[in-house]
Amino acid sequence: MDVSRVDHIGIAVNNLDEVVKFYEDVLGIKCEGTEVVEDQKVRVAFLPVGDTELEFLESTSPDGPIAKFIEKNNGRGGIQHVALRVDNIEKAIEEVIEKGYKMIDKEPRYGAGGAKIAFCHPKSTHGILLELSERQ
Ligand code: ZN
Repeated sequence: MDVSRVDHIGIAVNNLDEVVKFYEDVLGIKCEGTEVVEDQKVRVAFLPVGDTELEFLESTSPDGPIAKFIEKNNGRGGIQHVALRVDNIEKAIEEVIEKGYKMIDKEPRYGAGGAKIAFCHPKSTHGILLELSERQ
């Protein structure tokens, strides 16, 4: 598998607008806009830092994965997943499964920014929710 970089770090937040304001006003990192990903019940903001990005995720529904993560974390946000850039997501998924590990997504789906993404199962990654991401 060809992994080229940390694509982004996914951070669950309670209030996306407040968080973006902090990073823009205090740290001077420019938000590239927000987007709703219906499939994952989130509103997302990407903030580029060098050749990687911070991905902030606010839940749009109380039964979404980000809402559940925050609930388990005693109401606080925090790092929810790490995403690695791969050159060919279909091949990467195949390779994980072939080597006897588990994927949550056996087929890629579309994430924010039109990236093709797939999550590895935390049981296979020692507790980290690991996202594989292919972007043009
Ligand atoms: Zn992500």
